[in-house]
Order: sequence, then C-alpha cells, then structure tokens
Amino acid sequence: MLDTVGLQQLFEPRSVAIIGASTKPGKVGHDILHNMISSGYEGEVYPVNPHADQILGRKCYPSVREIGGEVDLAVIVVPAPAVLSVVEECGGKGISTAIVISAGFKEAGPEGIERERQLADLARRLNLRIIGPNCLGVMSTSNGLNATFAHGMPKRGNVSLMSQSGALATAIIDWSIQQGIGYSKFVSFGNGVDVGPVDLLRAWEEDPETTVIVGYIEGLRDGPEFMEVARRVSAKKPVIIVKSGGTQAGARAVSSHTGSLAGSERAYNAAFLQCGVIRAHSVEELFDLAIAFAYQGAPRGRRVGIITNAGGPGIMATDAVERAELRMAGLDPATVSALRSGLPAASNFYNPVDVLGDADAERFAFGADTLLKDPNVDAVVAVLTPQAMTQPKETAQKLADAAGASHKPVLGCFMGGDAMTEAAALLNDRKVPNYPFPERAVQALANMAQYSEWKQEPPDEIVVFTADKEAVRRAFAQARAEGRVNLGEAEARLVLQAYGFAVPESYLAQSAEEAADYAQKIGFPVVMKIISPDILHKSDIGGVRVGINDRQEVTDAFDLMLLRARRYAPDAAIRGVFVQEMVRSGREVILGSTRDPQFGPLVMFGLGGIYVEVLKDVSFRVAPFGKKHAHRMIEEIRSAPLLRGARGERPSDIEAIADSLLIVSQMVTDFPEIVEMDINPLKVGGAGSGAVAVDARITISED
Ligand code: ADP
Ligand code: MG
Repeated sequence: MLDTVGLQQLFEPRSVAIIGASTKPGKVGHDILHNMISSGYEGEVYPVNPHADQILGRKCYPSVREIGGEVDLAVIVVPAPAVLSVVEECGGKGISTAIVISAGFKEAGPEGIERERQLADLARRLNLRIIGPNCLGVMSTSNGLNATFAHGMPKRGNVSLMSQSGALATAIIDWSIQQGIGYSKFVSFGNGVDVGPVDLLRAWEEDPETTVIVGYIEGLRDGPEFMEVARRVSAKKPVIIVKSGGTQAGARAVSSHTGSLAGSERAYNAAFLQCGVIRAHSVEELFDLAIAFAYQGAPRGRRVGIITNAGGPGIMATDAVERAELRMAGLDPATVSALRSGLPAASNFYNPVDVLGDADAERFAFGADTLLKDPNVDAVVAVLTPQAMTQPKETAQKLADAAGASHKPVLGCFMGGDAMTEAAALLNDRKVPNYPFPERAVQALANMAQYSEWKQEPPDEIVVFTADKEAVRRAFAQARAEGRVNLGEAEARLVLQAYGFAVPESYLAQSAEEAADYAQKIGFPVVMKIISPDILHKSDIGGVRVGINDRQEVTDAFDLMLLRARRYAPDAAIRGVFVQEMVRSGREVILGSTRDPQFGPLVMFGLGGIYVEVLKDVSFRVAPFGKKHAHRMIEEIRSAPLLRGARGERPSDIEAIADSLLIVSQMVTDFPEIVEMDINPLKVGGAGSGAVAVDARITISED
C-alpha cells in the first residue's frame, strides 16, 4: 500500500510544477499559476506548457522532464485525455504527489470511469499520491501555498477543511474570506481516486496547526477504516462533518423490518456517534460549530448562563438551552448579590440575567464577567440587541476581554444587521464565536458539551460470548444446499441457540395427533405455528395461534393452519407445524441487523410488534459495539420509559436486552454472510428474569 500519512509534499512542497499553465487570464491553468505566485509561497514555481516561453513573468517548461530542479508537487490542469501521460511523466521525474484538477473522470460517463480506473492503477504503480481528479485544489495558509483556482485565500487559522465538492469549496472560501474565518489547510479532493477523508484525517491528526477538522463528504469508500481512524483522531481534536445524500443503501430488495428501517442516514448517524465525529446537518451548521470549537475551549459541563439586554431573546435562548439538552445554571447566591449591587434595580438578577435595554458596554460586560465567575456556570451565551443606548462595538470589545480572562467558553449572539456588523467582525477577530440568532449559538455550545463528554467517556467494553459456530455453519450450509438464503423460525432458532439465546421449547408435528401429544408434553397453553421455508411472515397467512388450551384445540388448529397455508401459499413446501411453549409474560422487543454498504453490519433495537415500521421508534449501531452502546441503544428510543417501568409497572430486564444486543453484534461480526436478520419478538421478562427469542429470521448471502 502507499504511504498513507506522507502528505507532507502536498502541504509543504519546496517546489511546485503547474502542468497545463495557461497564458490566458480566466483559464484555470492561468488562475492557479497566478494564485501560486501571488499568495506568498516562497518555493519554486514551474509553469509547464509546450506552447509558451513565459507565463506571468516565469520561465515556462515544455514538460516536467525539462525542469532542472527537483519537483515536490505537480498540479495537473491539462485536458482529461492528456492526464495519464502527464502523470506518467511526473512519475518518471520522481514526483511523489500530484493534484489533478482536470475534470472528465468518474463524473463524466463510461469513458471517464475507465480513465479514472487507469489513473488509480498508474498512481499505484508509480507510488504517486494523487489528490482529485475533478477538484479545486489545495491550500496551506502557513506557507502561502495556494494551488487552487479559487478567488483569494482565507487568512491563517486553525481549521482544516476537506471537501468532496469543489464548487462548494469555492463558495466556502469566498464566504470565509468575507467572514474572516481562518484556515490551516484546505483540500478539495474531488473524486478521491487516491487521497480521501481517511488520509486527510491521518495527515491532520498530529498537525499542530490544525485544531479543528471540518469536512463535507458525500460518501465514504471504507466505512470501518474511517471509523477506526476517526475515533482515534476525534480523541485528539474535534472532527465535524456534514454528510449530504448522494449514496443510498443500494438496490438490494429488503425483506426484513430492520432492512426497511435502516438506510444510509441511520448508518452514518450511528457510525459518527460511535467514533465521536460531530455531525453537522448543513454547511451553515458546519461553520457554526467550526468557529465555536476553533475559538473557545470546551465547557466542563452543561450549565449555561445567559446574559442579555432584552427579554424576548433571553427567553428564546433559554428555550434553546432546554431543547438542546443543556441546563440553565442555578446561580450562586454570591453571584446574585453581586449582580444586585452592580445593576439597576429593574434588572433580572437570575438566569437569564437581563441587564435591561439601556445597558451600555460597561454594564453588559459586568454582567457577563459576573456570570463567568460563578462556579455553577460552565459557559456563557451573551445575547445583545441593538437598542437606542446599546454600544455594540464597545460591548464586543469588553465581552471579548471578559472571555479572554476566563477559561469558560463564551458565545456571542449579537442580533441585528448593519448595527452589528462591526461588532461581529471584532468578536470574530477576538475569537469569540458570534451568531445572528440564539438557537445557533446554543446549538454550537451543545455540540461542544457533547464532544467533551464523549472525550471523557471510558472506552466501550466489548464482551465475548461463547458460541457454537460450527452449528451455525451447518445451518447455513443446509439452507444453501437446498438452494435457499432465507432461514425461517425453525432454522434461525438453531443459530440463536448456538449463540446462547433462550428459545421456547418447540416440536415439529406432522399430524394433528402428534401435535396434541407434544402440546401435552409441553403443558398448556401452547402456541402453534406453520413451518415452511417459503413462509416468512407466518401470521400474515393465519399461521400462528397463541393460547391453545387443550388437545381438541390443538387438533382443530393443526387442520385449519394447513388448510390456510395451502390456500394462501399453494406453492409453499410445508415442513409441519410447530407446537411451542407459550411465553406468557414480557414485553416484545425487536432486535435486528442489516448490512450497510458503507459501514457493514448495522444492528437495530426497538419495541417489537406490528407497529415497529409505522412508529420507527428504533435505534442503530454499527457492529461490533460494547456494553455502553448496547445500553444507549435501549435508552435512545422514545419508548424507553416503558422498559424502565412506567406507571408502577415492573421494569423489564434491561440487562438481558443489552446482552442480546451484544450477542447479535458478535454474531453478525462473526458471520459477515448474515445479510439481514430480525428477532421479532424477543420477549423480555421483568428485571432479572431474562429474555426469550420467540421468533427469528435470517437472510444469508448466496456464498
Ligand atoms: P410471524 O412470522 O408472523 O412474525 P411470530 O412467531 O412472531 O410469527 O408470531 C406472531 C406473534 O405471536 C408474536 O409477535 C408474538 O406476539 C406471538 N407469539 C408467537 N410465539 C409465541 C410464543 N411462543 N409465546 C408467546 N407469544 C408468541
Ligand atoms: Mg415474528
């Protein structure tokens, strides 16, 4: 494999060749060269173009081979059909890193797809790292490297950004320049034939100039690898990603509940959550979070103090705090009396602290400072509206002073338009993140609190259960030998048993008499179910009867069940009828798994029963996961209070559910051939009494 960390040549090249440099202003090959020589980069810049002697006052070379000195980085802007031969030449010249700006690859139809495949092969053969193709390029502000065709370069800062979309990147750069947001590195990786999100995470993991990593991605090539690297990097610095649609679970028809409820959104949410990646839901939120993390330290807890010069916005901020699962700090009595002695009598001395509409900068800053000193306050949100007496700029100045003197995060919300422009720019320069509306400030703070909690959590504890894998292999081989990939209850329960699940006592009866004998052996009441590899939803065709109380009922049910099966599924091969122990008490939950094309096995939990697909009250994790996440999956669903025992009911055996989830996690990790499975229902008794897998189905891959 290629050197996966060594992107040093990319960010700190001593010399750069622009292959396809153009004499014509407005052409990409011209703009890049212009950016390269006008952004303060001090290394050598070599324009390459066989049809020019000089461009922008620089000597031009007919090909990279003609360049006398060494070249660390090649920027390739030639038309797509010429890219492969240019890359080949770069390899010959000993160049190790190339940015392919040119479009006309994967995004451009079959010919482009083939060209991209060849580019990948070539890169591997030449041991050359490639960024792109079809991208905007790369920037590094610390050395003035601007190998992009963007208009301008943002100022220096601590945020590094990766973007799959070049067009979005141009907008982001433009906007960042206007807003005064600083960057360390900026990479548009386009089609990502070689360098992608995982490589960039690795490259920035130890980069002292990067304290926050932000990304826009549309998809990932290797989900598990991304999770592994992202988990490690997130523990060191925040990784904030906005993921847009683009990829979908694929065309495979889903037949399980889990399969129909999953999908790539759920998978990304689960994966990001498990590896500490902060998911932004829009580009706006991406930057709301980026500046918060880049400018302020993490809060120690969730207790927020709000300072405001206006009642309404203060209440809105308070609502936002509750909604974001932060808490309004209960102020220390000393704080309240300090506020009382320093503020006008009509002020509100309790959180949210209202210093009144006529507050000048002095009074507002006194309030903010007093809040920051309260031991019960972990962070301050400062909400200012432009009223007649308000001094926005002076207030910004003094607020920034107070923020600078405190280790607690301060977020500004200076609301308004022109009246706040100067103040907002000042706050930005002084590294106080500022937002036009309280909800956005509070949301950013909530993400900071969540991230610092995630960092402090102990690692998830993976538990290993003993399993009879041979029995599972036999069950799968048997189904395949019969040309099937679906295992119904009778077969799936063997697999579950092999992993230690409790299943109800069951016997397969071939006649009504036999069924009645089995029922007597089990003890009434019993359950009867039709067993056929072709009938996967038994109750849909009247193939399940519960609460059968005597022999007569058994024989009646037997005949009726066969009759119905023959009518509703005339081609189904009937194996017989299960006579089954009736599990009387307990809540019905569903456990399942499906395979996500990006992240692999995805495990689901929810309350069972017929409404699971309607209510969608389910949670997901990427397997394998440990105890912590098993418990969180259970707590996450809206109906979790029912399991904890609502209205005086006995609480359910949460430990048994958690163990069951862990077993499923292990099972689908051990057997990647399990494409989908549902245990529906798992009947869960009261605390300490365990759980029984009453029904299950498994779909395996064909080989
Ligand atoms: P289906 O193939 O229709 O999903 P199930 O085996 O899940 O068939 O049975 C349908 C419902 O009948 C279950 O959701 C559960 O409520 C009930 N049931 C099935 N088997 C048992 C049993 N052994 N004990 C108690 N209830 C059962
Ligand atoms: Mg079922």
